[in-house]
Formats: sequence, structure tokens, C-alpha cells
Amino acid sequence: MGNDQIGNYIVGEPIAETKAPDGPIETRWERRRFSGKLVNPANKRKMTVIVVGTGLAGASAGATLAELGYHVKSYCYQDSPRRAHSIAAQGGINAAKNYRNDGDSVYRLFYDTVKGGDFRSRESNVYRLAEVSVNIIDQAVAQGVPFAREYGGLLDTRSFGGTQVSRTFYARGQTGQQLLLGAYQALERQIAAGNVEMNARHEMLELIIVDGRARGIVVRDLVTGEITTEFADAVVLASGGYGNVFFLSTNAKGCNVTASWRAHRKGALFANPCYTQIHPTCIPQSGDHQSKLTLMSESLRNDGRVWVPKKAGDKRAPGDIPEDERDYYLERIYPSFGNLVPRDIASRAAKNVCDEGRGVGPGGLGVYLDFADAIKRLGRPAVEAKYGNLFDMYQRITGEDPYEVPMRIYPAVHYTMGGLWVDYDLQSTIPGLFVIGEANFSDHGANRLGASALMQGLADGYFVLPNTINEYLAAGPFPKVDGQHPAAVEARTQVEDRLQRLLSINGDRTVDSFHRELGHIMWEYCGMERTDAGLRKAIELIRGLREEYWRRVKVSGAGEGLNQALERAGRVADFLELAELMCIDALHRTESCGGHFRAESQTPDGEAQRDDENFSYVAAWEFTGAGQPPVLHKEDLNFEYVHPTQRSYK
Ligand SMILES: Cc1cc2nc3c(=O)[nH]c(=O)nc-3n(C[C@H](O)[C@H](O)[C@H](O)COP(=O)(O)OP(=O)(O)OC[C@H]3O[C@@H](n4cnc5c(N)ncnc54)[C@H](O)[C@@H]3O)c2cc1C
Repeated sequence: MGNDQIGNYIVGEPIAETKAPDGPIETRWERRRFSGKLVNPANKRKMTVIVVGTGLAGASAGATLAELGYHVKSYCYQDSPRRAHSIAAQGGINAAKNYRNDGDSVYRLFYDTVKGGDFRSRESNVYRLAEVSVNIIDQAVAQGVPFAREYGGLLDTRSFGGTQVSRTFYARGQTGQQLLLGAYQALERQIAAGNVEMNARHEMLELIIVDGRARGIVVRDLVTGEITTEFADAVVLASGGYGNVFFLSTNAKGCNVTASWRAHRKGALFANPCYTQIHPTCIPQSGDHQSKLTLMSESLRNDGRVWVPKKAGDKRAPGDIPEDERDYYLERIYPSFGNLVPRDIASRAAKNVCDEGRGVGPGGLGVYLDFADAIKRLGRPAVEAKYGNLFDMYQRITGEDPYEVPMRIYPAVHYTMGGLWVDYDLQSTIPGLFVIGEANFSDHGANRLGASALMQGLADGYFVLPNTINEYLAAGPFPKVDGQHPAAVEARTQVEDRLQRLLSINGDRTVDSFHRELGHIMWEYCGMERTDAGLRKAIELIRGLREEYWRRVKVSGAGEGLNQALERAGRVADFLELAELMCIDALHRTESCGGHFRAESQTPDGEAQRDDENFSYVAAWEFTGAGQPPVLHKEDLNFEYVHPTQRSYK
């Protein structure tokens, strides 16, 4: 062990075991499944699995595990499992079906994903994801998910960023909702069969570890305020991403890091926390009153053309700017991929033109996404059929009609590639704690390609976890534990003390005002562009804000009964710890890669400059105490198939 040069972390032992198989990549998953232990049906009935989360990852996992014969206890904080944030997903889900015969294949999806993630993901996992993608579509179709179809009856597809094929399956602009209805119905079937015990409006506030294994959780009933301890043979976290650490993001307001952070505090390593996806096509922020930002799906870049005026400070209405005075900058800089460059690249390009004074709309923080050509080429009804609900949404929010004037868009926080570290079996560093969907550090490396989150969440939930968890549960059932066990009493007491502490501060600042300030710090210093000096400053500011939080936060009401201020207070307290780790991670990674752009590390033409020699690893952080230097464990990344090169979309 040694101290690093910035004094904010300690370098620990590298991660030795990822369980990623070797040998030919196309047979790795098959061989892993065959070599893994099975659990016989009679034993499955004796075992319980807790699944925290009912989004696409959690609902698909819960339904599938119950279908296999395990008893499942499912938790979500919404009033219904089908209100999980996954419902917001708009544009589509990738799968290497090659229905278009346009050159797609499992290998190409694998290749695009490794390259799209800027060579910061684990090859074995990404190949498996691409392989399993084709099963997801069959599964969803069998459930009745109404994917868009072509005239001939085949499922329709469109293109998303970072690819030159058309592999994105979609259900208008409501793909997440339709897929979630499919997974939710599968879950409901098992609830009705008595195999899944559904606990809506329950929030997990602590993990219970007994004899080194994850054996349960502490939950708070959000309606009555009752705190209980729940036990199982294994715990699965499917609790989503943490983009709301930035306060403003496209995520649902409730999305938070608490489930993952509580597990992190108990020993689960947190990987690549600084990898944040900033999505290029969001409705620009209109003022300080906002609590949320709205995504305009990436699918719009299939037909919309992105441009700004050539001249800085040009305030003319878009219709008054002639063609030869417009800069279709993505088509100009990246002729091969044009408007369909990956998100990190499109976002940075938008920021650059705005920094040059060529941004449009209030404050100059916007670029146009223009459908005039598409409407001319395809006709308005065709554009309406593809994107109607997105256009309506845009019009309702901005008061402008995108059929008549170009949309205005600007990058916003959208997705977090970081999350709890998991091995090939999706198991964290705590035995018996599995993590799936956006909550794990995932297969997307430093930048996720569009339409790949739904693919990963459903791959994890329907196909990967139900296979890999058997290996762990084959050693079960584990000795019975109840609420009297010292580990359970301790975890429960921790929760009660923390809630009490939050309620008793009775300060003079609202939870939201702290969250908003934290968001400003994160966006300014750990957002689209990061610098050494900025990150150091952010760490100091976050530490100060955290100290102030525990002195001045005001949480009204009581712990008994519904108290949303108390719910938010706990979540923001966790964001205040996570934010520091994100900045430490971003500071230590002195290269640029994907969504992590360090101003000091760029190519002469302003693209992200990786440093493979020093940073070709996953940074997995160990918690050592709030405000204490975390320990860095590196998982080295080896590329046997897709060899790292300077990413080019030109
Ligand atoms: C506006 C928008 C559009 C998107 N469009 C697309 C798209 O077109 N294609 C694509 O691939 N991806 C898209 N994404 C990304 C994708 O939607 C998400 O990454 C994905 O849905 C996450 O699924 P999940 O199951 O991992 O988590 P979520 O859907 O976020 O579900 C999390 C679940 O965990 C529960 N939970 C969390 N914490 C706790 C706790 N402490 N206790 C109890 N329960 C808890 C919640 O109640 C919820 O049920 C989009 C994202 C956004 C924001």
C-alpha cells in the first residue's frame, strides 16, 4: 500500500478474481453456465431472495427467480412496481438480430459497445450482453410488448448513436414503459402465484451482513414509518442509477444512491463512480426554479439535424438564417457518423459551439435539432408516427411547435456508468450481494451507447443473474437469521439513530437547498469538463457542505408516518458522501475517456485522450469512513479481441 500523489486516497491490492472465463469469447457464457452449479427444484423452494427494485432489472429478475422456484421478496419505494424509473425510457433497446441485413451481428454489437465505452469495460461481459440481446427481444415479444413493426410484419428498427447499423427496437417513444409492463406482468403473475411477496412503498436503508454474507436488509415502510428487518439467502440490488447527485438530471426525481451506498459502506466496492453520461439532446434548462430536466430521445437524431449559426452572437430566428450561414457541425466534423455520433462526443461538441458564442436560445445554452428536411423528405404524418409523443412533449414544455421551428436542445446528466463493482456472476465483493441493471458498474465502460441500458438491465434480470446466482445458492439454504441476531440489531439501530439524528437537527436550511447547491458544485466541477484544480476545489466545497448539512438541515415532521422530507434527507446525506468519491475518482484519473473529459488530456483537435498505459483499469473503491481516504483497488482490463485505438467517428 502506498499513498497517492494527491493525498485523497490509498492504493490497495488489485482485484485478483473477476470470474470472467477465458478461452474463445463466443463460448465463454455457455461454458460458464455449464460449469456453474445448479440447485434442484426442491431446494429452490426452501430459499428466499430479496430483490430491491422493480425497474426493468429488478422486475425481470424477481419474476424469473420466482418462475425458477425461489421465494422472492421484492421492494420498491414507489406506490407500484410499475412506476419504477425505467418507465421513462423512450427511444429503444438494442439487439443484434440483424433483421435489416445491414451487416449487424453479435460480434459487431460487442465491438461497438467496447469501442463506444472507450475501452474501459470487461470484454467477457460485453460479449455476453451482445449474445443475450437477441433473447430479450424474443422474450418481450412473447410477453406481448408492442414493438413497432414494418409493413411486412417484421419488427422495425432504427439507429442510435455510435453505430452504423439499425439495431434499435422500439415502441414509439415509450419503449421503457412497454418493456416494463411486460416485466411487471411477469412479476404480477408470480405475486398472484404466491411466489413473490411485493412490498411497494418500502425503502431499504441498510444491508444486514451475517458471517460475511449478505443476509438481509433494514427497510422503512414509507407510509407508516415502521422499521423492520427482512432476511433471505441472498440479496439482489436493482436500485438504479445515481445521476440525481447533480440535482438536475433527466432521471425521475426519486432516483437515488442510498441502497448502493449503504452496501458500499458495508464493504461492497464502488467502481468508476465518476463515469457520468451527459446526454446531448435534452430540453435546455429555463431557469433556477426547475427541479428536473427532460430528455428528448436520441432516436430523434435519426432524422433531426443538429446545427448552430456559423456566426457567433447571431440572434436571428432560425427560419431567417439561410442554409449557407448554418453550421451542421456534427455532419461537418464527423462525416461518417454525422448526427449519430455517440453521446459523449455529441455533448462535448454542443458545449464547444456554445462556448464559442454560437449557442441559441436564452443564455446561449442550446443548439438546434431541426426536422425540416425530414418532414420534406418523409412527410409530416411519417414523422408524427415515429416521434409524435416526443414532439407533443416538447411543445407542452417549451410552447414551441417542433414541426414548425427546430427544437432547442442542450446536454444534461442522464445516466451513470459507475456503480457497485460486480464480477462476471454479477456478485459484489460482499458474498451473497448481487447487483444488476444501472446500479452495477455495468458493461458500458466510460460511455454507454444509446438503447443499451434497457438491454443490459433485462439481460441481467432475465438471463444472467438467474443462471449465476445458483452457483452461490447451491451452498444454501444458510442458517436461519432473525431480528434478534446482533448483526440485525446493529443494522436496525444504525437506521433508527440516523433518522433520529436527521429529525433532531432542526436547522434552518431545507434538504432541497443543500441538494441544489451540491448539484451546482457537481455540474460546475465534475460535469462535462473536469480539471485538476476544479476537482480539488469541489472536494473542499463538498466536505464543507456536508459538515453544514449535519448542522443546519431542517427536516420537519416525525419518523412515524409519511414524511417525504425525511426520505429525501437520508438520500441527500448519501449523495453528499458519494459526490466526494466521484470527485476523487475523477481527480485520480488524469486521462480523458468517454464521458470523463479531463481538460488536461485532449488530442490537438479536442477529442478525449486516453492514457492506456496508466489507466486501462476499473477503479473500484473501498469505503473507510466518511471523509476518510478511500482505498483504490484496480481491476486490470485486458483486450484480446477489440484492441484499444483512438476512437474515431470521423
Ligand atoms: C428519460 C430517460 C430515457 C431513457 N431512455 C432510454 C432508452 O430509450 N433506452 C435505454 O436503453 N435506456 C434508456 N434510459 C436509461 C434507462 O431507462 C435506465 O438506465 C434503466 O431503466 C434503469 O433500470 P433499472 O432497473 O436498473 O433501475 P430503475 O428503473 O431506476 O429502478 C430502480 C428501482 O429500485 C427501487 N429502489 C431504489 N432504491 C431503493 C431503496 N433504497 N429501497 C427500495 N427500493 C429502491 C426503485 O423503487 C425502483 O423500483 C433512459 C433514461 C432516462 C432518464
